[in-house]
Amino acid sequence: MKTFLDWSSYTDAGLGDAYADIPKSGGNFAKAVAVCINSRQCETLGKGVMCPSFRVTEDPHLSTGGRVKLLKQALNEAGVMDALLDPQLQQSMALCVACKGCKRECENAVDMTMIKTEYLAQQNTRNGISLRSRLLAHLPKLLQRYPTAIHRAVKWRNNSAILRKLGAALLGISAAHRLPEAHSATTQNLDYIDTAALSEQPTREVVLFVDTFTQHYAPENLHATVALLTRSGYQVTLLRPPQDNQQASTTLCCGRTYLSQGMVDHAKTEAQRLLDALKPHIEKNRPIIGLEPACVSAIRDDYLFLGLGDLAQTVAKKTFLFEEFLAKELTAKRFPGKFRPADDSEQVLIHGHCHEKAVGAMKSIRKVLKSIPNLKFEFVEASCCGMAGSFGIEKEHAQIAMEMAEQSLLPTIRSKPSATIIANGISCRQQIREGCERASLHLAAFLNTRLV
Ligand code: SF4
Ligand code: SF4
Repeated sequence: MKTFLDWSSYTDAGLGDAYADIPKSGGNFAKAVAVCINSRQCETLGKGVMCPSFRVTEDPHLSTGGRVKLLKQALNEAGVMDALLDPQLQQSMALCVACKGCKRECENAVDMTMIKTEYLAQQNTRNGISLRSRLLAHLPKLLQRYPTAIHRAVKWRNNSAILRKLGAALLGISAAHRLPEAHSATTQNLDYIDTAALSEQPTREVVLFVDTFTQHYAPENLHATVALLTRSGYQVTLLRPPQDNQQASTTLCCGRTYLSQGMVDHAKTEAQRLLDALKPHIEKNRPIIGLEPACVSAIRDDYLFLGLGDLAQTVAKKTFLFEEFLAKELTAKRFPGKFRPADDSEQVLIHGHCHEKAVGAMKSIRKVLKSIPNLKFEFVEASCCGMAGSFGIEKEHAQIAMEMAEQSLLPTIRSKPSATIIANGISCRQQIREGCERASLHLAAFLNTRLV
């Protein structure tokens, strides 16, 4: 069985362990599956993220370990490719929201998110790629080429019951959900942000990776980050493609949407372009900052499975979420900014994106918020919000996605009607808006309004 991802980091996994029960086919991929020790910790309903689909259904086939069992069975069959298309296995993998909860919380760090990417890539070779998957995967490119058309089409669709039904019938997009509306074409070109003019006596150079979703759907977070960092004395460079790159005019994207649909070759192309653009900054030891947790986790985690060499390893170590960067600067006493104290009545609720939790970034948010005098804040104890990229708008998944959100996140938010909500993931903000009509802010936007 030829695999699409580079599983070489699992070469020694389970070797010499009589109980590892490594499946016959799949090589190192099979070893990555077999690291599960069947402790069934992923079938508990306590704190943390793992495993959202089990928590909602309490079906053992929809836990991390349940997926492992089904995959092992398939990888032990003589006709592996047919076995991988077993309907129960397909359904079990389809309901994995790729939250990375297991990678952090499972005692043996089963990485079902990457296993799912490999699984989808294998599935695509046999079943082809659906129109919906293609549209979702190519969305960053479509947004770049046709921003105005997409802006208008989504607006029409959101405001027309007939178009919503048509979208559900033809594309499998849930008619019950509003789709996020990208900003119109005027905000698409990053040249309108002159970071050099904003910086006064900059003390430290940083590079900001502007992901597709921030650029097109939430440019206010980009503006807030640039304003906050430049006003605090940092020289901010917005990452651009190298001028000698054949596609220099095409904006950069991490490739997350391709990874989510199992389109590994496309993801590799995007990843390589991004690494090429980052290389000169890495050589100058500039920290790389990203705002969207799913994009930063693609660069830090997923690129290591794409066989992209040493540069990918170095970039992974130098790339930080905004909150991680700020927390590091505060710890090193390099962040000169001061924040306005909070009023006694102010309440702040924070919902962490699963990939933020997977990289342990919640402690950075705590550190940053503690630098605001008198601020009372609390973290929502919740698993995945259910939106998980495009999962929550897919017709067949929309209900279970909302059930995930209703387990804890939405009731907690409703119980605090006057609280400010911080959610750094764009899909989390969308799910919160859909589920309880409340707006939420990226941490950068929240902080920027308080900088004195
Ligand atoms: S996936 Fe992890 S938590 Fe679940 S049974 Fe296997 S080892 Fe235990
Ligand atoms: S990635 Fe998330 S949904 Fe998928 S198996 Fe792991 S914990 Fe469950």
